[in-house]
Amino acid sequence: MLELVVPVSMPLADRHHWAEVESRRLERRAKRRRPTDERLLDRARRLNDRLFAGALTWNSIGFTDTDHQWGSCTFTDGAIRIARRGAALPDWVLDYLLVHELAHLVHSDHGAEFHELENRYALTERAKGYLLALDARASSELGADEV
Ligand SMILES: [Zn+2]
Repeated sequence: MLELVVPVSMPLADRHHWAEVESRRLERRAKRRRPTDERLLDRARRLNDRLFAGALTWNSIGFTDTDHQWGSCTFTDGAIRIARRGAALPDWVLDYLLVHELAHLVHSDHGAEFHELENRYALTERAKGYLLALDARASSELGADEV
């Protein structure tokens, strides 16, 4: 929702006009900021090179509309999906999500070998803490009691 503050004296027609102009401006700004699937692919490629010596391969990578998890990796067909809300995260947290899913290309479980891969990303623990805090805040805002 867009809330626009206008002078009381402004005629209704002008208010509509400004609401229109302002909402188009905000839309354009949001579009510029929204990371695209290509940007996700680009980051994944760089992380693959830097942390896995470029050894990992996948079939597809992109954002998806889901709210209950931050990311997923279909081990069998090599499809990596990152929740669209992840686009708003700082780059270093988004990179952690990618590293986590990239590591799933090698290990489908969360065992010791998986963690060895995941921890190649130096900010893994910090990013996990960031996401935990974010999820905790989100669920307390929703009045949910499970974290
Ligand atoms: Zn996982």
